[in-house]
Amino acid sequence: MTLPERKFTWPARDASAQEVLRWGFEEFGRGMAVCTSFQATGSVIVDMASKLVGDDVRVFSIDTGRLHEETYKLLSEVRRRYGITVQLLVPDAEEMGSMLTKHGPNLFYEDSARRKLCCEIRKVRPLKRRLATLDAWVTGLRRDQHGTRGRIDKVSVDEEHGGIVKLSPLADWSSERVFDYANRHGVPLHPLYAKGYPSIGCQPCTRPVSPGESARSGRWWWEDDVDKECGMHYSANGRFRREFDLLLDEILPARQPYLVK
Ligand code: SF4
Repeated sequence: MTLPERKFTWPARDASAQEVLRWGFEEFGRGMAVCTSFQATGSVIVDMASKLVGDDVRVFSIDTGRLHEETYKLLSEVRRRYGITVQLLVPDAEEMGSMLTKHGPNLFYEDSARRKLCCEIRKVRPLKRRLATLDAWVTGLRRDQHGTRGRIDKVSVDEEHGGIVKLSPLADWSSERVFDYANRHGVPLHPLYAKGYPSIGCQPCTRPVSPGESARSGRWWWEDDVDKECGMHYSANGRFRREFDLLLDEILPARQPYLVK
């Protein structure tokens, strides 16, 4: 099946989060999976999805190998609470070995191109391998998270990932609405929120922020001139794209993009 050739009746632009999810399950069934990093948006979506289809929901997460210990504990709690399996995607051992040998384990602090290289090997390539097996995926992206995310659609064709369908059911939700839903429904929340982390990623690349700072300012805080994105949703471009491609070619000289294993 080639998705762009398939005829859809798209949900209304003002469809609720639950209506968007229900539409996804009806259209794609088990060809759709929820991606979560165990931040509040992902956990809210898992809660909504499990209320719609029970333990039939397919959930995956990317274990970069550098996550906070609290994230692993929350993962176990989510598994227990919803009775679901969470598929963990891990980086390719050969790609990791090559990167770590060439640049060392903390390459992300050296410059933006090396930081994006680390995100590529640990996050982006495992994600791409998984998405190549799906018809649709569900993300927790919201328009108010960061400048690059201001025009997110609730449902779109994901050209960066082979034209599968991308659902962002909470696109028009505020952070307050997410936490309000989580509190009212008893959704397990990441304990680092209570310690001043508004956005939680890998341990070495995330820190708490001061009152008044933007939520994303705690991610890769040593970078001040690049988008605060890892590449899962938006590719690097311009100068960073070229530097990053050179680095990638160095460590994966015979690379073929995103082989599905
Ligand atoms: S967030 Fe940091 S540790 Fe995690 S993949 Fe990106 S650069 Fe590497």
